[in-house]
Amino acid sequence: MRYTTKVLKCRRIGDSYSVELEKCEFYPDGAGGQLGDRGKVGKSNVLEVIRENGRTILKVDKELESNKEYTVEISENRRFDIAQQHTAQHILSRAFENLFNLQTVGFHMGEEISTIDLNTLSIDWSMVEKAEDLSNEIIWKDLTVEIIFEDFENLEKYDLRKISEKIKKLEKVRLVKIGDFDVNACGGFHVESTGQIGLVKVIHFEKVKGKYTRLEYIAGKRILNYIRTLEGRERKLFEITKASKDDLITKVQKLLDNSKDQKKKITYLVEDLKKKVILELENDPIVINDIKVYTYSSTTELIEVLASIFQKKEKSIFLGFDLFKNFVIITCNNDELGANDLIKEILKNFEGKGGGSKKRANVVLQKKLTIEDIEKIVNDILDFIKQQHF
Ligand SMILES: [Zn+2]
Repeated sequence: MRYTTKVLKCRRIGDSYSVELEKCEFYPDGAGGQLGDRGKVGKSNVLEVIRENGRTILKVDKELESNKEYTVEISENRRFDIAQQHTAQHILSRAFENLFNLQTVGFHMGEEISTIDLNTLSIDWSMVEKAEDLSNEIIWKDLTVEIIFEDFENLEKYDLRKISEKIKKLEKVRLVKIGDFDVNACGGFHVESTGQIGLVKVIHFEKVKGKYTRLEYIAGKRILNYIRTLEGRERKLFEITKASKDDLITKVQKLLDNSKDQKKKITYLVEDLKKKVILELENDPIVINDIKVYTYSSTTELIEVLASIFQKKEKSIFLGFDLFKNFVIITCNNDELGANDLIKEILKNFEGKGGGSKKRANVVLQKKLTIEDIEKIVNDILDFIKQQHF
């Protein structure tokens, strides 16, 4: 939609501009639970359409001159998408009502997905699929969608799904009639005939507010985009797992089982190795100022177990290095020094993130640790301990 009109006012607000047009055809954001229009005024993009005190205010990204004529463009593609989602909601809501006597108590349209709240807590996928089937049959019948303006007192002759408090105040009510399938009061955009929706699909549902079920659905082109996203994800999975369509799930399950199995084996090996390493370390500690310093490099699993054991030994310090994850763990069991102080010493020469308490602290360093790095860290810490005067 394209037309020419005058900009009445333009005010800067933060990074954007607030604009009022002489003739404004933009549908406001959130009105009737639906999305607002987007488009352009001159070269300026419309970011938001706000309705306040009977006026429509546009939030735009570039400054416009007051009292100047501009070409206004409203995005037809967006309106069509909104119409597809909105009409699909009417059909889905009626399908759940006809099939299961469930009422729609809430509706919200989003940029990517829209939601319908049903007044029930018990729904399963077989019910959802039945409602989807009925809705899509209605879509493929290509029923005409009529807009009827009716006097409030005549509404009785229609089988309306819901009459809201707002409608009760109106003299003329805007009805949206979908063949003989559904009729409901609504002010938003709708397609001209149901075939234009193409397809509707519920993609997720969950319990909300302790008494409703929220359905997430998409319609029209959004389904194509959704399938493309799923396909992209699936292709990536095939690539990573080297699986085919037929054995993807079996292969992923096998990988998970293997991983569980490996974890069990690691726990067993750590238990086995622990005793030997403790003996080895206890026989040969570095002693400085009466403090015994133990250092060991291995995997996180082993150094964490060792840390927990040496943490209990009085007047001791343990320095554990993970050779695979640039992870360092330190425990201190003496009154004068804190493990967190020693982590700070490491961070003077190496970049990383860490911290902890006086008793136990750890750090993940940005750089992959070489044997030389570990030697440097150990020597720096030993020097630091020597410099302390207890
Ligand atoms: Zn509607």
